[in-house]
Amino acid sequence: MEDRIVTFESYNDPMLAEIIKGRLEANGIDCYIADNNTIGMNPLYTQALGGVKLKIFEHDFKTCQLILAQNEDLALDEVVDNEETPCPYCQSTNVRYGAATIQRTNWFGAIVSFLTVTYPFYARKAWHCFNCGKDFN
Ligand SMILES: [Zn+2]
Repeated sequence: MEDRIVTFESYNDPMLAEIIKGRLEANGIDCYIADNNTIGMNPLYTQALGGVKLKIFEHDFKTCQLILAQNEDLALDEVVDNEETPCPYCQSTNVRYGAATIQRTNWFGAIVSFLTVTYPFYARKAWHCFNCGKDFN
């Protein structure tokens, strides 16, 4: 049987790609991320390269879909369009649920930690208000 390598999915966010790669690896799937370093150095290249590509063996494709279907909390890092959770400090609904500390550093700092260490900023999740800049639970 031929082991072709295929693109499983493309992501605009290199960190999302890393999270999904981690999920698949934890389930015994061999995979790697293509174009990640280029985009990590300059996120503006994301569009030009078609995103960060997660590469897997073709025979793992179905298994990968099943693994990710079981991980509903992947959506936690998406921007939440919510009316129900306004900021308790300023009542703005311009809030996002995700890694709390990533908004405390700037985007460049996040990329540097991403490239050099593991991901300490995924340790804690919280709401972040873009209007007044405070975090809340
Ligand atoms: Zn606020």
